[in-house]
Amino acid sequence: MKLFISADMEGLAHVTTSSEVNREHVDYKYFCEWMSTEVATVAEAAMKKGFKEVFIKDGHASGRNIIPSHLPSKTKLLRNWTGDPLLMMAGLDKTFDGVAFVGYHSAAGHAGNPLAHTVSGQKISHLKINDQIASEFLLNAYTAAYYGVPVIAISGDAAVCREAKKWIPSIISIPVKEGIGTATISMAECDVLDLIREKMHTFDKKVLADCQLYLPEAFDIELKFSRYHYAFQASFYPGVTLKDDYTIQYHTEDYYEFLRMFMFVMKG
Ligand SMILES: [Zn+2]
Repeated sequence: MKLFISADMEGLAHVTTSSEVNREHVDYKYFCEWMSTEVATVAEAAMKKGFKEVFIKDGHASGRNIIPSHLPSKTKLLRNWTGDPLLMMAGLDKTFDGVAFVGYHSAAGHAGNPLAHTVSGQKISHLKINDQIASEFLLNAYTAAYYGVPVIAISGDAAVCREAKKWIPSIISIPVKEGIGTATISMAECDVLDLIREKMHTFDKKVLADCQLYLPEAFDIELKFSRYHYAFQASFYPGVTLKDDYTIQYHTEDYYEFLRMFMFVMKG
C-alpha cells in the first residue's frame, strides 16, 4: 500500500503566530524541526500498519519546510511547487491507497486557530463550495476523491479535526492543538507524538472504503477576496462572474476545472 501525506504548518502542535511559519523570521527554524518530526511520526506509524511507501508533499508556503534528514526510509518528499492545479496535493494519483493530512488548520471564515486561513491568508476572506465554507481539508479531500483515494487520517487543530469527522466519520482524527482567540493550547511534544502513534495504530485497511469521500455532482464556487481588485482580475477567467465587488462565482461539474480556475486566479 502507498500513502500520500499532504503537510502544512499552521495546524501543527504549538504553532501560534505567523512569525513561526515564516522563513524570514527567527522563530521559524524550530517549527521546521517540529513539522518534520510530526510528519515522520505519521509516516513511520503508517508503515507499521502495512504501508510500504509514503509520499510526502510539503504544502506550506515555499514548499521547503520539512528537513529531509528527519524522514524515515521508504519515504519520498516533494519540495517546492510543481505549477500544476493540485497545489498541496501535487504528486497524488490513482495509484495511492490512502491520504493523510498533517498540520492542517481551520478555514478562512472560521475560528479555531489564530492562523485560520484558506490557501492565502492575504487574499481570501472565504471560499465556499456548494454554500459551505471550505477549508484546505475539504479542498484537498475532494482532490483525493477525484482520484478515488480515501482520506484515512488528519492531524491538526481541533476545529479542522471536527470538520473532517463531519465529512468522513471513519477518518482517524488527531487533534494536537486548540485555538483560543490569538492563543493556542497544545500537549507536550512527547505526548503529541504518542497520540499520533496511538491513533495511527487504530488504522485497519478494512475501513479504507469507509474513508472514501464522494464528489458532489456539481460545484457552485464562491470566492470572496480581501480586496476588490483581486475579484475584478479573477472575473476574466472563463466562466467566472462577479457576485459583488469582492466576490466571484464559478460553476462546474468537473472538480479539476475548479482546481484549474483556482490556481490561475490565486496566481493573478
Ligand atoms: Zn494552510
